[in-house]
Amino acid sequence: MAVETMKMSCITCPRGCTLVVTHEGATVIEVKQAGCKRGADYVKGELTDPRRMVASTIRVHGGRHPLVPVYTSHPFPKPMIFDLLAELRRLEVNAPVTAGQVVLENALGTGIDVIASRHMPAGQE
Ligand code: SF4
Repeated sequence: MAVETMKMSCITCPRGCTLVVTHEGATVIEVKQAGCKRGADYVKGELTDPRRMVASTIRVHGGRHPLVPVYTSHPFPKPMIFDLLAELRRLEVNAPVTAGQVVLENALGTGIDVIASRHMPAGQE
């Protein structure tokens, strides 16, 4: 496999360093311009197992509003995010929903839960 050098934006903290990464496949050779050592961990994760926090909404049956916002309990494997969003579009829970309630356990077998981020009482406004 060829040695490549590329730029990568670290999204671990708001500083958003532009890292200059030299790698051979998934093997990191050098990381330059990182503001801290977490930059190298970020690069390693991106090259081997990229993940992102996912936030979306799901339908609520009998709720004051038709949708409730949800998020993943941990960063979700990036290649599976499209399938997760499809699963969330199919999902509907019954009101009331409480903030912190698990609305989808072990999403797609990852061990990661999807959690409601706000209360949604039953009934009309
Ligand atoms: S390398 Fe460190 S300082 Fe720079 S964005 Fe990543 S976590 Fe933040």
